Amino acid sequence: MKIAAEKDIFDVQAVRKDFPILSREVNGHPLVYFDNAATSQTPQQVIDVISDYYSRYNANIHRGVHSLSQEATDAYEGAREKVRAHFNAAKAHEIIFTSGTTHAINLVAHGFTALLSEGDEIIVSALEHHSNIVPWQMLCERTGAKMKVIPMDENGVLKMEVFEDIISEKTKLVFLNHVSNALGTVNPVKEIIEKAHAVDAAVLLDGAQAASHIKADVQELDVDFYVVSAHKMCGPTGVGVLYGKEEWLKKLPPYQGGGEMIATVTFEKTTYADLPHKFEAGTPNICGGIAFGAALDYMNGIGFEQIAAYEHELLEYATKKLLEIEDLKIYGLSKEKTAVISFNIGDLHPYDIGTIIDKLGIAVRTGHHCAQPVMDFFGIPGTVRASFAFYNTKEEIDIFVEAVKRAKNMLS
Ligand SMILES: *Cc1c(COP(=O)(O)O)cnc(C)c1O
Repeated sequence: MKIAAEKDIFDVQAVRKDFPILSREVNGHPLVYFDNAATSQTPQQVIDVISDYYSRYNANIHRGVHSLSQEATDAYEGAREKVRAHFNAAKAHEIIFTSGTTHAINLVAHGFTALLSEGDEIIVSALEHHSNIVPWQMLCERTGAKMKVIPMDENGVLKMEVFEDIISEKTKLVFLNHVSNALGTVNPVKEIIEKAHAVDAAVLLDGAQAASHIKADVQELDVDFYVVSAHKMCGPTGVGVLYGKEEWLKKLPPYQGGGEMIATVTFEKTTYADLPHKFEAGTPNICGGIAFGAALDYMNGIGFEQIAAYEHELLEYATKKLLEIEDLKIYGLSKEKTAVISFNIGDLHPYDIGTIIDKLGIAVRTGHHCAQPVMDFFGIPGTVRASFAFYNTKEEIDIFVEAVKRAKNMLS
């Protein structure tokens, strides 16, 4: 019994040893990396998979009869299966590899061009990243459909009563993030999906920020599209995934034309390949896909429940410590939030705070976090954003809070 109990204790120091970058210095100080909402760090286990791919079996997939091509194809399709299992999709061909969240959203927005017309409406939340706003605005320009917005309150929580007012038979699509990258708010997605389906509207969830904290089950959510980027969940940049229900993926036309996505080509007519290849034109990021699979193995090896519980501890600890600083205001105080803290101190410019603490080895994000409408709502140009991962520690938070105090003293 005792051994089992000990095994359950989350050993952050052991985990940190997996991440070589965490032992480097920046500007003469040990790195404190609190920019995880922008991109996460990469464990040695994933770096090894990348190195192994290029050292041993780099080849183009789905085409060659030769052994290397076969090995690469098996590894790539194996990664697709890992992604399917992780998100509990019903079928592997409902997983489309993309270059990331942005590409995945553009793919769906492009596909809806043929399905929308004037008089139709689509609904977005006030909490979105630009990549979940702009492609839909372009869709509206192409089709004449109208975009409506679910507003939020002072705590960064969506006003569900307004959502109920604006959703109607005209609504064809609702799209929002599962977790806000600017504030960390976890949105009531289950309720939104139910209400959208009641009027036959499809739902796309931008899971880019959620995926490193919450293991989404797409069948349980009954969501139509779910999109993520590997680089926010311990994988490499330049690869991500679109999950789509089979019926929707069959309905949407291909996004890009090229090799790999065809069944037959003549100059008169081309027929398209079956799912998932219909949406995967050209040579994909083969190594990236395989490494994404390895990153999922790594995170599942630690366990998402463990990760969520530990990150929640970090969030509470840092929130309490930061609020001890006079004039410090935190934006986004939803009861349901992930380990992201967006703040300002008086009228000090976030960029100045970020620059000073960088000199002390601390990496945070400053600015609008690709969510200008969120900043406009609060009437500010931007915030300082500290975002934590399961490899961060309370000691690092102490160093960070002292550095923020020092920056405040220097700037006031
Ligand atoms: C990071 C992020 C994106 C964009 O992801 P890319 O990898 O840059 O395509 C979109 N939405 C949210 C909520 C994000 O956090």
